[in-house]
Parts: sequence; structure tokens; C-alpha cells
Amino acid sequence: MAIPEQAKFVVIGAGVHGLSTAWRLAERLTDTGEPVDGRIIVIDKSGIASGASGIACGVIRNNYFQPAMRELMAHSVGIWESDPEIFSYHPVGYMQISCEAMRSDAEQIFAQQHAIGYESVFVEGGNASMTYMRGLFDDWQAQGITSVLHEKRGGYANNTKSIYGLAKKAEDLGVRILTGVEVVGFKTEHGSNAVSAVETDKGSIACEHVVVGAGPWVRDFWNMLDLPKQIDLKDLNGALHRNVPMWRFWQLEEGLLQVSPETLLTNDGKMPPVIHVDTDAPLLSDVDGSLITEEMWGIYYKPDWHFNGIQGGAAPYKVDTPVDEVAIDPYGPSSPEFVAGSDFAHMWVSALAHCHKRFKGMMPQYHREPSGGIGCFTPDSFPVFDHFNGNTTIIADSNHGFKMLGVGRLVADEIMGEGQELLKPFRFDRFSKGELHPTSRSPFPWS
Ligand SMILES: Cc1cc2nc3c(=O)[nH]c(=O)nc-3n(C[C@H](O)[C@H](O)[C@H](O)COP(=O)(O)OP(=O)(O)OC[C@H]3O[C@@H](n4cnc5c(N)ncnc54)[C@H](O)[C@@H]3O)c2cc1C
Repeated sequence: MAIPEQAKFVVIGAGVHGLSTAWRLAERLTDTGEPVDGRIIVIDKSGIASGASGIACGVIRNNYFQPAMRELMAHSVGIWESDPEIFSYHPVGYMQISCEAMRSDAEQIFAQQHAIGYESVFVEGGNASMTYMRGLFDDWQAQGITSVLHEKRGGYANNTKSIYGLAKKAEDLGVRILTGVEVVGFKTEHGSNAVSAVETDKGSIACEHVVVGAGPWVRDFWNMLDLPKQIDLKDLNGALHRNVPMWRFWQLEEGLLQVSPETLLTNDGKMPPVIHVDTDAPLLSDVDGSLITEEMWGIYYKPDWHFNGIQGGAAPYKVDTPVDEVAIDPYGPSSPEFVAGSDFAHMWVSALAHCHKRFKGMMPQYHREPSGGIGCFTPDSFPVFDHFNGNTTIIADSNHGFKMLGVGRLVADEIMGEGQELLKPFRFDRFSKGELHPTSRSPFPWS
């Protein structure tokens, strides 16, 4: 099939961000009476949902220590709620269950959620936390938990189904999605660094504006656009760090316990909230009783009828390979290098058994197929949503952005000339200005 020679907007990547941006751009053109047909093109070298969006656990939460992240997540949760059916969204809520070291962080999050009208319940103290958790699961047994933040909104969505739903919304408005077309470079003209055409392996497409929603492949587009591989960064104490790598990769560890999802229903037979536990209680092996760790550890999990089991993950680990040498393809479970291993399985299933008696002795049920995938993170592990080179917008969510369904909408409105307050804390120049987001005590880089 011949590819078009020109378009108004070329969006790279048919994941959550590319498609949600295209959807909103189409709405905006429609509103102004401009025809959409053929003027908004989404290009993907593989297919719809073939990147991180198609393997995400799908957790949607507000629980972030950073005020700007919370406000942005509240906006995105609203978009998930706008059409739960097409987004395959399950509004079961979300629980952050923490040890004493994280109690004050959680308390602060609760207070600020209250201030922005995001409904949640905060339970404090060891006994009260145990009682609250046993009210949901009578076999709850995690020791050393002193707070529970229960978000009533949020939950999870079924990764590929959500992204196909999003693609349908965009296509219904006339967006054209070209799959199997790989972007290989950009053309510029007349000494300007603005992109005049997107070069693909099937030909060039002249365009007015480019949107890059390339997930873990953002590193490659950053390089194609000649943006700096290393940056100067001012930290929260005002200290300047020179030549900090712009990107680094982490491996996300996720897996599946192949038991009936009903195994994790609540005492009254309902779907539970997504559960996230962070604790410094010693973690013992459920296989042989040996000590796995005495350091802070964290897991998350949910019953999932799409994965068909109890699905979840643990804190990711840093990929040591120099950033330009990391092989992103083949991606996700197809990678020969970056998949969750047996250490993860041992830790995660033992941690499930640490929390619930019902998971004791279930190591043999761990699904030993490859899972997980890598993500490309910014220097502070929070997103960069910004415009570069005059007509190129980059959506780099630092790999925790499946939940950020509303970002494409905000980005599209900015492209149409309406600056968005919610996006401002995520500009690239925050690194040089020292306007970083505050950091929490969580063992996860994205919390
Ligand atoms: C194992 C795992 C679990 C996760 N769980 C969660 C979660 O529970 N909640 C959450 O909020 N986030 C989660 N994330 C993060 C989330 O999945 C990503 O942040 C998000 O999906 C990124 O979306 P995207 O649209 O930017 O990129 P992607 O979904 O990766 O899409 C990028 C697309 O760009 C295409 N592409 C790349 N290069 C080219 C090229 N040269 N030419 C054309 N097309 C190209 C790719 O084929 C791909 O389809 C998880 C990530 C992983 C890896």
C-alpha cells in the first residue's frame, strides 16, 4: 500500500500516547470544521499496542508523592472513567499499603488528594491497618504495616483491549493508522531544524507537525532530532551535576500466578482494589524459609481475567548496559535479554504469601513464560512533555504512563495553541532550572 505524501500531523507510535493525541487532534479538527480524513496519520513500525502499552500491567492510580503528578493523574482518571467499556477499564480502586518509613509520605498524599477532591480513605496505625485489611481479606497477614491509603477511584485496564479501543476512537474520527511503517529519520529545510518531512522505510511524508509517542524507543528519536544525550541538571539542593545522561533504561519485573483470578476476591466475593505493598519487614522465601531481603521491598498485584491469573510486579532494576547499546528490539517478552527471571518469581510469589495466607505454597503455579519489558527513563524518572525544534512534540512518560490516558488530549490542545497548566511541570528545562519533582521514600523510581 502506498503511503501518503503529506499530512498535517504525523504521530509516531500507536501506543497510548500517540493514539490519544491523534484522537484529540481529530476532535479538534472536527470542531473547527476541518476535514480529518488523511490529515492525521499515526505510524507504527509494528502494530497497534506493540510497544510498552501492549504489555503494561495496566494499573491506574493517583498515588504519587509529587503534587504535579497527582493532578495530572486525576485528569487522566477522568478520561478512563469517560468510557470504561471501550477502554476496558475496571474502576476497582487502588491501595497503597505501607510500613512506618512511608507513613508520613502516604499521609501527605492523602491530604493533598483531599485538597484536589480525589476520593480516598487513610487508615493509620498497625492495628487499624490490620483490621482494615482483614475486613477485605480475612487471610491478610503482612506484619509491620502502619498505614493504608485506599483510593476509591482508579483501578486497572486491560492493556491491548484499551489501546484497540483508543485506536477505534481515533479511526472513527478519520485518523489513518499505518502499521508496518518504520520512521528512519527527519527532513529539515532552509537551515531550520523544524521537521519538513518524516522519512520512513516506505517513503517520505511532508507534514506541519510531528508528535513522537515512541515509548522506550524515545532514545532513538531524541538522537534523530539531535537533542542532547547528556544534560546539566540542578538538583533539589541547588547543586549542579554536569553531563548527566538524558536517558537510562530500567527493566520492569512483572509476572503471573496461574491460578483462578477468583482466588483473590474480597471476603464478600467482590473484585478487590489493585494492591500495592511497600515494606521493610524481612521477606522470607515461601519455598525454603531463607531470607530474601531485609531491605525495603515492594510489590503490586491484582486478579486479572485478561491475563487469567494473579498478575503484578515488583520494583524494577537498572539496566547497566550503556544507553546507546541497549537493544530495545525485539521488545518485551520476545527479548532474549530483558525478561523477568527466576529471582523475580521467587521474590514476588514469596511476597504474595507474606501478605496473604492463601498464596502459601503456590510457587509451582508461577507461569514460567517470559514477561516484563524495559522502559526508558528520564534523569529524575518523571515525564518530559515538551515541544522541540519548532514543530515536534515529544511525549516521554518515563515509562509509567499507561495510566496517563489524558496526556495526549492535553498535548493536542497545546499543539492547537492552548498552553496547559497540567503539562508545565514536565518541561525539559526543569532539569537545568532545578525545578525537579520531590522524591519519596518508595522503593519504586516512579512514585
Ligand atoms: C512490563 C511493563 C508494565 C507496565 N505497567 C504499567 C502500569 O501498570 N501502569 C502504567 O501506568 N504504566 C505501566 N507501564 C508503562 C507504560 O506501559 C508505558 O509508559 C506506556 O505504555 C508508553 O506508551 P507510549 O505510547 O509512549 O509507547 P509504546 O506503547 O511503547 O508505543 C510506542 C510505539 O512506537 C513504535 N515505534 C518505535 N519506533 C518506531 C519507529 N522507528 N517507527 C515507527 N514506529 C515506531 C513502537 O512499535 C510502539 O508501538 C508498564 C511498562 C512495562 C514495560
